[in-house]
Amino acid sequence: MPLNVIMLGPPGAGKGTQAGRLAREYGVPKISTGDSLREEVTRGTELGRLAKATMDAGHLVPDDVMVALVRDRLLRPDTASGFVLDGFPRTVPQAMELDTLIQERNHGGLLALQVIVPLDELFRRLYIRRICGLCGSDAAPGTLDDAVCSKCGGEFIHRTDDNEDVVRERLRVFEAQTEPLVAYYANSSPTSTFFKINGNQPLDTVTAQIRAAVEQTQRAAGQGADGTQRVALGRQDVTS
Ligand code: AMP
Repeated sequence: MPLNVIMLGPPGAGKGTQAGRLAREYGVPKISTGDSLREEVTRGTELGRLAKATMDAGHLVPDDVMVALVRDRLLRPDTASGFVLDGFPRTVPQAMELDTLIQERNHGGLLALQVIVPLDELFRRLYIRRICGLCGSDAAPGTLDDAVCSKCGGEFIHRTDDNEDVVRERLRVFEAQTEPLVAYYANSSPTSTFFKINGNQPLDTVTAQIRAAVEQTQRAAGQGADGTQRVALGRQDVTS
C-alpha cells in the first residue's frame, strides 16, 4: 500500500525538515512545491519569473499552475510507493484536485499531518532560518554562521520571503487559505486519515510522533479478504 503523506502547517512549523526525514525513512520522494518553485526561479524559467514576484510578496501562486506542477510530478515512476508532499495542497481547491489525482490513479489513501506550533515560536524560527543559496537545502537548526551546505558546498543565506513584513503576510495567507484545509481533511476528504502533531517539541520527538501516526495508519489499512486494500478513515490526535 503506497504511503501518501501531506504535511499541513504554517511557514516555520518544520514541515520541510520532518517531510525529508519521513521520506528518507520510508524510501519515497519528498516533493516540496516551494523548493520546486525556487528551482524554477534560479533557472530563470517562465514559471520562475511568474512565481518570483508572488513568492516575494508572500502570496500564493495560482491553483491551476500548482496543480499542473504536482500532477506532472506525481506521474513520475518514483511515486509508485508513495510520496511526502510539503507545501501542497495549500487551498481547498488544490486539496480537491489532489484527491481526484489519487483516486484516478487508484493510489491508496492519504495521510494528512497537521503540524502545530505557536505564533511566537514560528516568528523566532523564521528569523533565524537559512537555506543553501545554491541547492536550496535547509540549514539544520543550530548550524554555525560560517558553515557551508553538506550537499553542495554552497553558502547559507536567508530566504527573501523570510523578512518580517513578508512573514506576516504569509501567516495571514496561511490563516485565510490553508487553515480551512484542516476542516477539509478532518471532515470531508473522501480518502484521508488526519493526525495533529505538536511541532513545538524537540525534532526527534516530533519525528517519533509522526512515525507513530504513519504506523497506526498502515496497520489500519490492511488487506481485505478479496485482496483489495482498505483505507483508514478517521481523525486522531497524537499531540502531547
Ligand atoms: P514554501 O517553501 O512552502 O514556504 O513556499 C514558498 C512560496 O512558494 C509560498 O509562499 C508560495 O508563494 C509558493 N507556493 C509553494 N507551494 C504553493 C502552493 N501549493 N500553492 C501556492 N503557492 C505555493
